[in-house]
Amino acid sequence: MSLAEIQTRITKAEADAGRAPGSVHLIAVSKVQPLERVEAVLGEGHRLFGENRVQEAAGKWPDFRARFDGVAVHLIGPLQTNKVKQAFDLFEAVHSLDRAKLARKFADEAQARGTCPDLFIQVNTGAEPQKAGVLPGDADAFIAECRKLDLPIQGLMVIPPVDEEPSLHFALLAKIAARNGLTGLSMGMSADFASAIALGATHVRVGSAIFGDRVPG
Ligand SMILES: *Cc1c(COP(=O)(O)O)cnc(C)c1O
Repeated sequence: MSLAEIQTRITKAEADAGRAPGSVHLIAVSKVQPLERVEAVLGEGHRLFGENRVQEAAGKWPDFRARFDGVAVHLIGPLQTNKVKQAFDLFEAVHSLDRAKLARKFADEAQARGTCPDLFIQVNTGAEPQKAGVLPGDADAFIAECRKLDLPIQGLMVIPPVDEEPSLHFALLAKIAARNGLTGLSMGMSADFASAIALGATHVRVGSAIFGDRVPG
């Protein structure tokens, strides 16, 4: 599928759900993709990208930013506390805030710099032991804790379990967000972004459908 096709599908999903055109942001997930594929998508005018590793993003995006105006990169993968400073330098948003220690690091760094990336709290809706994210039952308290630290929480993020119906997880994420007054919903990937949009996604993270299959590194 091409970038234009994905955009057409997003526009249709927005209309089908009665949502305003342009209310869904397409994050083109460029992790592990050859640079020429990423450059081609930049050349088509797309400017919002997602990466899941700090190191990989650091090796790629400073150069692209120097050559293309208006680029924004979101971190969608896990973040270690010792890489928070680097995350401030590299990303306009971080979608993987999921623990108190990390929240405090963001708060300290935000205070020092007078600015902070937009933040999404990752929720482990499937309570999978190997997966990052706060458990659904801990989400309200963690959101409150982050607000007490004055962090710019935009919304919630989920990666549903691979073997379950994703829309159940999208609906649960939307419910937790709504009861906490959060409007941002980072959910939906190549296979399921249309159903995520139907359930309120504001940010869909689409990789392989735009760039082709990821070439193993
Ligand atoms: C890789 C990745 C995506 C994109 O997955 P595709 O199936 O290629 O669209 C989305 N979200 C996260 C967190 C990812 O790591």
